[in-house]
Amino acid sequence: MEKHILSKSTYIKGEQCLKQIYLTKNQPKLRDRMPPERIAIFSRGTNVGIYAQDLFPGGIDAGPKHYSQYRKAIETTAQLIADGQEVIYEAAFQAHHTLILLDILVKNGDAWDAYEVKSSPYLTETYYKDAALQYYVLVNSGVNIRSFSLISIDGNYTYSEEIDIHQLFTIKDVTEEVKERMPKVALKIDEQLGVITQEDAPQIEIGPHCYKPYDCDFIGHCWKGVNRPSIFEIPSLNKEQQFDLFNKYKTLEHCLESPDLNQINRMQIRSQLSKRPYKNNEAVQSFIPKYEEAYILKVLSFKPALPRYTGSKPYQAFAFGFALQKIKANGSKGDIIRYMANGKKNPNDIVIAKLKEVLEENIPIFTYSSSKDISIPFKTIDLSELIRLGHFYRPKITKDYTSKSLAIAMGIRPPFKAIEMDIVAAQYYNDIIDGHKDTQDRMLRIRDFLDRELRILSGLLFAL
Ligand code: SF4
Repeated sequence: MEKHILSKSTYIKGEQCLKQIYLTKNQPKLRDRMPPERIAIFSRGTNVGIYAQDLFPGGIDAGPKHYSQYRKAIETTAQLIADGQEVIYEAAFQAHHTLILLDILVKNGDAWDAYEVKSSPYLTETYYKDAALQYYVLVNSGVNIRSFSLISIDGNYTYSEEIDIHQLFTIKDVTEEVKERMPKVALKIDEQLGVITQEDAPQIEIGPHCYKPYDCDFIGHCWKGVNRPSIFEIPSLNKEQQFDLFNKYKTLEHCLESPDLNQINRMQIRSQLSKRPYKNNEAVQSFIPKYEEAYILKVLSFKPALPRYTGSKPYQAFAFGFALQKIKANGSKGDIIRYMANGKKNPNDIVIAKLKEVLEENIPIFTYSSSKDISIPFKTIDLSELIRLGHFYRPKITKDYTSKSLAIAMGIRPPFKAIEMDIVAAQYYNDIIDGHKDTQDRMLRIRDFLDRELRILSGLLFAL
């Protein structure tokens, strides 16, 4: 059996951009380093597929234990089918140089029903594309497929004592949709195989496709030619707006001619061009109350794909920890109070109770919150609003308003392998309460992250 050339994930890369599949196959060293926050997003909900297997119990897992064992997985699947196995998990098939691993394959009379599990509550176009590819490979491998369904999470499911998988999951038969897409899939595979064997990478300009549906792996390589500072470093514009302006005006200076820019966009462009920070003293002063002493507070939250606490829903956000520090107007700081719930019970309630215990009344509380996932029952002053509202800006804030971007702008560098984003801390917490073997290390990293977040917050407050 020939080694496959495409897989489900590489096919989706090729669907996004033919240059991406060319580079993936021919110049993988040009790939960007995967940021930990993207890894955290991908690993969210990895155990959802295992839960979904219980919808069809008694199956045997045919999947490869290592990515290099794909051939063995295909042979194991074929053997299980020949042996009359009725339910197969991670069934492997190859056709037209393309390998797929199907989450669940179930015998139905003399045919098979195929199921692919998605850990999301929504079925996106990408999921249909990937289902169509799987259906194509299954049919062309000679499997008699009766139906193809996508299994997703029902976002309205409410947890009570234990997970009821029949309520948690929604099964949608997409056989007609994937059948309709079959001829297109064949053409797309041929197109991708053709591009991969070309001498040179296809000439494809950068565009919004570099970020849709996923951030491309080769942005660092393809975007080298964009002169800096560019319109792509203006965080108050979304990607579509940035590309519109880039295509119309090319240079950042000329973008200022656009009538479509608002005041914040203009201020950020001017700041980028002059490399001078911006501060609207009057607006900042009216935003920040006068204080002798104040708190700086960082609250961490996580959103488990599978609900854990009675009355909660999939992907519901829960606060799980915080760090709090008292500061004085003269710049002195008190001890840091840190807390992290053990996650056995709803951590949100415990975190709020703990905060109530330690917070003194009538002292302003400053936060820097780029996410609005959780609300805590205390009046807080979110300093990220100052940047969002255009009252404060530093030209090194180029991507977004997260504290990671702010830390770069303020020259606060994280140590090697440190957590830099809330989503990574959330993933680590999820690992901890799942009993991950590196629990101690993860706890220390979350603690370091909390401390650094307070440093960023106090640095910003004193700079205002
Ligand atoms: S960065 Fe953009 S143009 Fe380059 S390979 Fe990726 S998607 Fe294609």
